[in-house]
Amino acid sequence: MQIFIYNSLSRKKEIFKPIQEGRVGMYVCGPTVYGPPHLGHAKSYVNFDVVRRFFEYAGYNVKYVQNITDVGHLVGDSDDGQDKILVQAQKENVDPYALAYKYETEYFYFMDKLNIKRPTISARATGFIPDIIEFIQKIIEKGYAYVTKQGNVYFSVHKFSDYGKLSNRKIENNLSGERISVADDKEYPEDFALWKSAVGGHIMKWNSPWGVGYPGWHIECSTLSRKFLGETFDIHGGGIDNIFPHHDSEIAQSEVANGKPFVNYFMHNNLVTVNGTKMGKSLGNFITLNDLFEKFDPLLIRYYILQFHYRKPVDFSFNAISKVKEQYDKLVENFSQVKEKSLNKIINLKSNKINNDELSEIYNNFISAMSDDFNTPLAMAEVLKLSKLASNALKNNESETLIIINSIIKVVEDVLGLEFVCDKIKSENKTKDSELLNLISDIRTKLRSEKNYQLSDYIRDKLIELGVDVLDKKI
Ligand SMILES: [Zn+2]
Repeated sequence: MQIFIYNSLSRKKEIFKPIQEGRVGMYVCGPTVYGPPHLGHAKSYVNFDVVRRFFEYAGYNVKYVQNITDVGHLVGDSDDGQDKILVQAQKENVDPYALAYKYETEYFYFMDKLNIKRPTISARATGFIPDIIEFIQKIIEKGYAYVTKQGNVYFSVHKFSDYGKLSNRKIENNLSGERISVADDKEYPEDFALWKSAVGGHIMKWNSPWGVGYPGWHIECSTLSRKFLGETFDIHGGGIDNIFPHHDSEIAQSEVANGKPFVNYFMHNNLVTVNGTKMGKSLGNFITLNDLFEKFDPLLIRYYILQFHYRKPVDFSFNAISKVKEQYDKLVENFSQVKEKSLNKIINLKSNKINNDELSEIYNNFISAMSDDFNTPLAMAEVLKLSKLASNALKNNESETLIIINSIIKVVEDVLGLEFVCDKIKSENKTKDSELLNLISDIRTKLRSEKNYQLSDYIRDKLIELGVDVLDKKI
């Protein structure tokens, strides 16, 4: 299967060619854990989860690495502001480590609700300070960074002639304007911090060859991606707001330190707008996932996000979600019934030909939409067609057709990360489960009263293996 990716580096669609046959090394910039997860996180990480899932469906072994920025990301993404974590920790009157951990936990809690697979490796910046220091040393040795009297280390942007190749910015264009103030120990305003000296009550700080300090924001991604994926890897993802300065700076650091191309494919997802305007804390239209999930099923939100191509913005409004909800509910109900009526039987569509022209076309269109730069809106259109055919097959009780439809549903669920199980069936299954557990528990009580401990303990151990709590009462 050929997969096409829009590569932000070349600004065109390219056929994906892995560095290692059958494997994908993928790095996606993770969250800065200083506040509750919001709709922007949902969009970005659902988009890259689908990329990962589709590669897995296509048979690749995907290593998906993500960082957790728990230090060094300064307010305004510049070198002059304060650390976002520190500022928020002071506001909430907690230890910055506690703050970062709290929001990291929240982050995973909400990503789980969106059915986003956990990264293969999730790495906190604070856990890799020695690696970061070593990386900075390498850049200094190569002559691309300088240490100042104040104990800061800066990357010399002017020495790296390719700087800005991703965002297509020329250094002259970046001058001032963008910056309110410029640290006075920089040689050039464009130079960016690799290491910042810890002044004024900074709690997260470490010893380094340049004094006590903490790493800059960009350096953690260069360090962690090399540590887990190597000097050159397949795919680097992030939001379009990461292109400059973050990703341009990552490229500069890594290509200087490693002397090799950093990444083969850069992918960037677009952002979220609310009623057509940019979403932002200061704009007062900021939507946290906590608020959103009180009103809507997280998988409906996932479904809504996938209606838009990852390179397009998701425009959010309560009205739009409510409209999509009807369509989504119908889909869930239909597909739930297909699962039930087909007894959840599945055929492997990769190795078996589909003996039904309409269904074969839907499946092929779905796969080719996904192979063409992960075109989820096109793929979803095929899912709606599938739902129509499902209605007919259910009405006429066509058992063979239902099995094929169920097999396509399974692919859709695996690739898009949706789960088509309606609440009615979910609660019926729950009731069945609890009746079954009561029965097993009665059998164990009987066995123990007959002193057949061997068999009762065997059942207990198996239940524990399945994650069932077993509490023995005295007989
Ligand atoms: Zn990054």
